[in-house]
Amino acid sequence: MRMVLLGPPGVGKGTQAVKLAGYYGVPHISSGDMFREALAKGTPLGLEAKKYMEAGTLVPDSVTIGLVKERLELPDASRGFVLDGFPRTLRQAEALDELLAQLKMPLDVVVSIEAGRDVVVERLVARRTCRQCGAVYHLKFNPPAISGVCDRCGGELYQRADDAEETVRRRLEVYSKETEPLIEYYRSRGLLISVNGEQDIEDVFEAIKARVAQV
Ligand code: ADP
Ligand code: ADP
Ligand code: ZN
Repeated sequence: MRMVLLGPPGVGKGTQAVKLAGYYGVPHISSGDMFREALAKGTPLGLEAKKYMEAGTLVPDSVTIGLVKERLELPDASRGFVLDGFPRTLRQAEALDELLAQLKMPLDVVVSIEAGRDVVVERLVARRTCRQCGAVYHLKFNPPAISGVCDRCGGELYQRADDAEETVRRRLEVYSKETEPLIEYYRSRGLLISVNGEQDIEDVFEAIKARVAQV
C-alpha cells in the first residue's frame, strides 16, 4: 500500500496515518514529525526548519523534498508507506511522482480527509503532542489516561507552539493557497478518494479502509 493523506492542518492526518500504517503494515512517514525530530536534536536541518514552522509557513521545497526523498529510499519504504503532510505544494507533488517513477513504486491512492474550518481549529487548539514519541492527543476528543502523560511511552505532553490560535490561522491560509490545489492534481490523475473527516476517529478510519478497498 502506497498512500498519501491530504487535508488541512488538524483534520486528523497524523491520527489516521498511525492507524493505517499499522493496519497495512507499512511505515508512517510524516514530514512534520521528521522536522520536529531534527529540531529536538538540534541538527542543521532542524534549525533551518525552525523559523518556518514557528511562523506557520512552509519549509522551502528544496529542503523538504530532499528530506522525504532520503526517507523513501530507505529499504522499509519498498514495502509501502503512508505519507502524512507531504506533498504540500505542486512542486513537491511533481518531485514525488518523479521519484516514485524512478523507484518503480507509483502511488496507489490519495485520501483527502475533509472537515470545515471550525472543526479543524477546535481540534488544533486543544491538540497535545508527546515530546518523546510524537503521539497525538486531544484534551476533549482523545485525552490520555493520565493528564499530561503519554499513554504509549510515559513521555510529557506539550502544546506545539504552532498550535496557538494566531499561527493556526496562518497555517490554514497557507493550506488553501499552496496545498489545496493538490486535490485537483490527484483527482485528474484518478488517484483521489474523499472521506468525511468530521466523524469520530474510529469512523473516519473505517471509512478510509472501506473506500480504499474499492480502489
Ligand atoms: P493533522 O495531522 O491533520 O494535523 P492530527 O491527527 O494531529 O491532525 O489531529 C489534530 C487533533 O485532532 C489532535 O488533537 C487529534 O487527537 C484530534 N483528532 C484527530 N482526528 C479526530 C476526529 N476524527 N475527531 C476528533 N478529534 C480528532
Ligand atoms: P499539521 O499537523 O498541521 O498538518 P505538520 O506536523 O505536518 O502539521 O507540519 C508542521 C510544520 O512543518 C508545517 O507548518 C511546516 O512548517 C513544516 N512542514 C511539514 N511538512 C512540510 C512540507 N511537506 N513542506 C513544507 N513544510 C512542511
Ligand atoms: Zn509518547
